[in-house]
Amino acid sequence: MIDPDTINEGGKIAIVGVPCDEHSSFAKGAAEGPALIRAALFSDASNLWSENGTDLGAGSTLVDVGDLVSAAGTDSFAGIKESIGVLLDRGLKPIALGGDHSIVYPIIQAFAGKHRDLTILDFDAHPDLYDEFQGSRRSHACPFARIMEEGLAHRVVQAGIRTMNGHQRRQAERFGVEVIEMKDWRDALPEMRSPLYISFDMDALDPAFAPGVAHREPGGLSVRQALGAIQALEAEVVGADIVEFNPRFDALNVTGVVCAKLLKEIAAKMV
Ligand code: MN
Ligand code: MN
Repeated sequence: MIDPDTINEGGKIAIVGVPCDEHSSFAKGAAEGPALIRAALFSDASNLWSENGTDLGAGSTLVDVGDLVSAAGTDSFAGIKESIGVLLDRGLKPIALGGDHSIVYPIIQAFAGKHRDLTILDFDAHPDLYDEFQGSRRSHACPFARIMEEGLAHRVVQAGIRTMNGHQRRQAERFGVEVIEMKDWRDALPEMRSPLYISFDMDALDPAFAPGVAHREPGGLSVRQALGAIQALEAEVVGADIVEFNPRFDALNVTGVVCAKLLKEIAAKMV
């Protein structure tokens, strides 16, 4: 990651790669995501304007601070928490590019130090509320259990869920997580207050739109439905992540472009 103090005044949004897939339960490869999302975002095939007319290429609205690199043998979660904290201290709004979904736990640890009453809007096919998964409490199947146990968020709303099971339903009830299952999706989210953090697991989308994920789950959101939900948000968005894009599962290089599209519409909500 580049030194945030070198960013020009006026920089608002920091894109930071977190190429970490060590806590993926089924398949590695999400660590290869950030480079391809950047390539799609800055490709001449499109531009940096959001649909609401925000030019993200203007000035230093959008700053790419590079990838986090955790030194061998160090605790990657501690490094992620510390680095996100540095960006927040600098007054930037981070958009983290995963990596697998386990990274949202240390990211939210950093946010909790800044925002006492954070609301998290989590798009995902999966609730990721396991107490432990395959012997790991750090699995990408667990981050929202860790976040709720530590009281790091005032409120968590999950959208796109379509793999609920008994254990995770009990966990959601125990923690008071508001789950909007895909079967009940009606193109509207409940009202959410500021500050708002968006966690976007790419498998929330139907695999027809975003096949580049390790855990394909049919019956998900269309890209248009996800964009519409993001565009309708009224709360101040202070941070976000886009996770679980796995290029090894992609077809026709389409999923990185979808990530870049989501990034632009989320960033436009931050400006
Ligand atoms: Mn997830
Ligand atoms: Mn998922």
